[in-house]
Amino acid sequence: MFLRIDKLPVELPVSPNIDPIAARNVQELLGGRFGEMSTLMNYTFQSFGMRGRDKIRPFYALISNIAAEENGHIEIVSAAINSCLNGPRTEFDPAHDPESAHWQNLPGGSFSGHYVASAQTALPLDSRGMPWTGDYVFSSGNLILDLLHNFFLENGARTQKLRVYQMTDNPAARMMLGYLFVRGGVHAMAYAKALQELTGVEMSKMLPIPNVGNQIFPEAKRFMEGDLHLKLYRFSPDDYRECSGLWSGTAPAAYTEGIGSTDQFQFIDAPPSGGDLAHLAGIASSFAPNYAPEEIFEIAQKLYQKAKD
Ligand code: MN
Ligand code: MN
Repeated sequence: MFLRIDKLPVELPVSPNIDPIAARNVQELLGGRFGEMSTLMNYTFQSFGMRGRDKIRPFYALISNIAAEENGHIEIVSAAINSCLNGPRTEFDPAHDPESAHWQNLPGGSFSGHYVASAQTALPLDSRGMPWTGDYVFSSGNLILDLLHNFFLENGARTQKLRVYQMTDNPAARMMLGYLFVRGGVHAMAYAKALQELTGVEMSKMLPIPNVGNQIFPEAKRFMEGDLHLKLYRFSPDDYRECSGLWSGTAPAAYTEGIGSTDQFQFIDAPPSGGDLAHLAGIASSFAPNYAPEEIFEIAQKLYQKAKD
């Protein structure tokens, strides 16, 4: 089962303007082959189908915890796309008349699906508008092969994120990217350590792939200064503790870059505390939550009252 916390892993800045090109490019990191939907579903199905898990729970717990974290990554990439598609917006504005055809000149480079299929919010698609597909999931049942695949997947994801970083200076997109450079680095290192434990092959010596450290990106460096590159979280009230032994010891010098207060891997017995989600105001001409939502607001008011009683 899954629980849900109404927070983002970290708070994102509000995009200073509507930035549909950044939103479209960031879609690749959500619904592309190497996007967060892929990491989530790969680790989720590998954990669902892991045979012999009663005897190999450290590896089962590792993949399960990382799968749960990827749920939050889907949410933060979506939040970055939403921020890029909105910018500062005043509260619900009924003056936008749908008869005025004010969407007829969308900014150049816009993905029309963001305006037609959603009300300027993220969709489970890549940057070309192609839907995410289960074909991206590799779940062979062979522990070493699956871990090796996950190591590859994290580094493929990092490569694409590094490219998207260079395609935008949008602060919401870049804050999300800085955070995910660091967290993806943890996941790549965790899979490297698991493979190292199983085979003796020092996978961590390959890292980082590509061979540029996270510390050169200011948005990533600030998270490293808070030791987020050294923390593996447990995403459950009671379960999945067994992987703490896989995430212990001293981090390689190339991994810490001398940043942060320690070089020790830390297993955190809880999820991150999280940050606030941005408020997405209503858009009358997108009929979201409706063209004239006053009645919906009134019904909601009554339900708030009922929840308090
Ligand atoms: Mn991720
Ligand atoms: Mn990851």
